[in-house]
Amino acid sequence: MICPRCESKSVNLLTKAPKDDAWEVYICDTCTFSWRNTESEHITNPEKYNPDFKLRPETFTQLDQIPPIPNLKGK
Ligand SMILES: [Zn+2]
Repeated sequence: MICPRCESKSVNLLTKAPKDDAWEVYICDTCTFSWRNTESEHITNPEKYNPDFKLRPETFTQLDQIPPIPNLKGK
């Protein structure tokens, strides 16, 4: 399985429906995106996931921290 958002292959089963295996939730170890297998293809399929919301793992170290953490105030 491939993460729809960052296309990492490091994806694990997070949880399953308590009854009848009605759905499964997966989580990406690389970008922490999680999705349920019963969601539509624009969420579950990497090729149909909105390109504006895709992430590239090689840029993670360049991303801003939100919210930014200010420097400690001096006494
Ligand atoms: Zn991912």
